[in-house]
Amino acid sequence: MNRKQFLKTRALLPLTPSSMNLTDLNKMTSTLSNTSKMPVLFLGHGSPMNAIEENEFVSAFKKLGEELLRPNAILCISAHWETKGTFVTAMQSPRTIHDFGGFPQALFDVQYPAPGSPELALETKNSITKTEVGLDDKWGLDHGAWSVISHLYPNADIPVIQMSIDYSQPPKYHYELAKEISSLRQKGVLIIGSGNMVHNLRLVAWEKLNEHYAFDWATEANEKMKSYILSGDHQKLIDFRSQGKAFDLAIPTPEHYLPLLYTLALKEENEKITLFNDKSVGGSMSMTSLKIESN
Ligand code: ZN
Repeated sequence: MNRKQFLKTRALLPLTPSSMNLTDLNKMTSTLSNTSKMPVLFLGHGSPMNAIEENEFVSAFKKLGEELLRPNAILCISAHWETKGTFVTAMQSPRTIHDFGGFPQALFDVQYPAPGSPELALETKNSITKTEVGLDDKWGLDHGAWSVISHLYPNADIPVIQMSIDYSQPPKYHYELAKEISSLRQKGVLIIGSGNMVHNLRLVAWEKLNEHYAFDWATEANEKMKSYILSGDHQKLIDFRSQGKAFDLAIPTPEHYLPLLYTLALKEENEKITLFNDKSVGGSMSMTSLKIESN
């Protein structure tokens, strides 16, 4: 059976590793070739409208896509996929999920038909020993993933998988889990955390959504986060619930913040961090993004 036939057959079977034999598995994982170490990104995605607007944030994403080494595949941890347990999408063709309401039809019309990568899903699952990672065939790409990846790779020709955020786990769990997938960086996998460091939708100053306006607490939280990021003080960022009122307001719920921990956990000692899109919108959201790469 060649690989194509194999994958076709697999699509009809439940995605459980027990139904695969080792030869088949080896055949699949071998498609991720060794490369130099890929950078890791945290992208502040902000409003879903960034998917179809032209603005400075979008320009920076496009520029980044042109500069990066072309990855073999992308693994995205998006704020918008929370589950009990950790899952990776393992379908051949992930659907574009329009997981929002009240936006123009043009946004609902966006399709990002990047292929999935059952190979990478399995490789990710097998890399993780901390927990049993489930293979998912229902999700797809939510807007946390496609609204930014579509600017990096507009041709949708690089396979993308998502890894979910287990809402039942503490911050340290996410940080440690991310460390287990570090080897993927050397297999050409671009790992992207997509969220927002400061994200309080309840307090958005809607009339200032298109201005670089930040409440004092939002500025304080963003500045402190940046200083801990740049000084490598990850413990303070993991203990975000002990950092005072500004952090509590910036992170009312953790889902937009946790992708940052996944990204930071993958930083190795000799690597540098570049911040970009370091601006606030609507008072209570920061677009601050970062790239981690070898010197
Ligand atoms: Zn979001």
